[in-house]
Amino acid sequence: MKIVRSAADLPRSDSLGLVPTMGAFHEGHLSLFRAARAENDTVVASLFVNPAQFARGEDLDHYPRDEQRDAQLAEEAGVDVLFLPPLEEIYPPGFQTWVEVEELGSILEGEHRPGHFRAVATVCLKLFNLVHPDRAYFGQKDAQQAEVVKRMVGDLAVPVEIRVCPTVRDEDGLALSSRNAYLSPEEHEAALSLPRALQARDRSLLDGLEVDYFEEADFDPRVLAAAVRVGSTRLIDNVILEVPCQASAWLGRAKKGDPQ
Ligand code: AMP
Repeated sequence: MKIVRSAADLPRSDSLGLVPTMGAFHEGHLSLFRAARAENDTVVASLFVNPAQFARGEDLDHYPRDEQRDAQLAEEAGVDVLFLPPLEEIYPPGFQTWVEVEELGSILEGEHRPGHFRAVATVCLKLFNLVHPDRAYFGQKDAQQAEVVKRMVGDLAVPVEIRVCPTVRDEDGLALSSRNAYLSPEEHEAALSLPRALQARDRSLLDGLEVDYFEEADFDPRVLAAAVRVGSTRLIDNVILEVPCQASAWLGRAKKGDPQ
């Protein structure tokens, strides 16, 4: 696997998959790398902890970073190129152009993290323009992020296909997240209420935690999404409320064809 820090050294390919990340890789990231590996000749993973998408007082300074470990995991998962752009590659001096996905970017997470999705949409467009991927891979774990990026790509006719992969969870149900590393064992236990409440569609299971929101969102697919604070750690998760059309059609056919 090649480590590239300058966009000028990125590979060109007729079949290129990009996985944008902020590092601290776990099985969630690795599942995206593997999906990209299965569908593309060349797989690029970008690792950029985007300062613009953290508000003041958020965890930018403490965000877990371990380049060597990440490089090894990415290589093992079949990534060809790990792109580690320095700040100036993404935000050149004088930078002043931002992409705002107005409505989708201002609800739920956007309401609690003003400016977050503007920074996400902007860095994704920048990465798409630098890497020229045919396909880019995102996790359903961040359902609103995937929705914002799909909207931006559609609205601005960005020539990339957005692929969204299922949420990877711990055996105990907690969605994997780089931020889980902040949780003490007691907090990890308390955090399990989040997937349980979502599964049961029962907000009362979050009693005792600080809940930012627990709401249905009209995304594609439709989800029940929530954000909670466990101690000083903020966690988000969601469950899909409806099976997408294609899958439900398939399930319907499978049922009819079942041997009786
Ligand atoms: P991050 O490094 O947290 O910005 O995440 C990079 C990508 O990995 C995003 O598209 C996330 O949605 C995705 N991701 C993070 N956690 C998970 C997970 N548990 N399952 C699937 N994808 C995930």
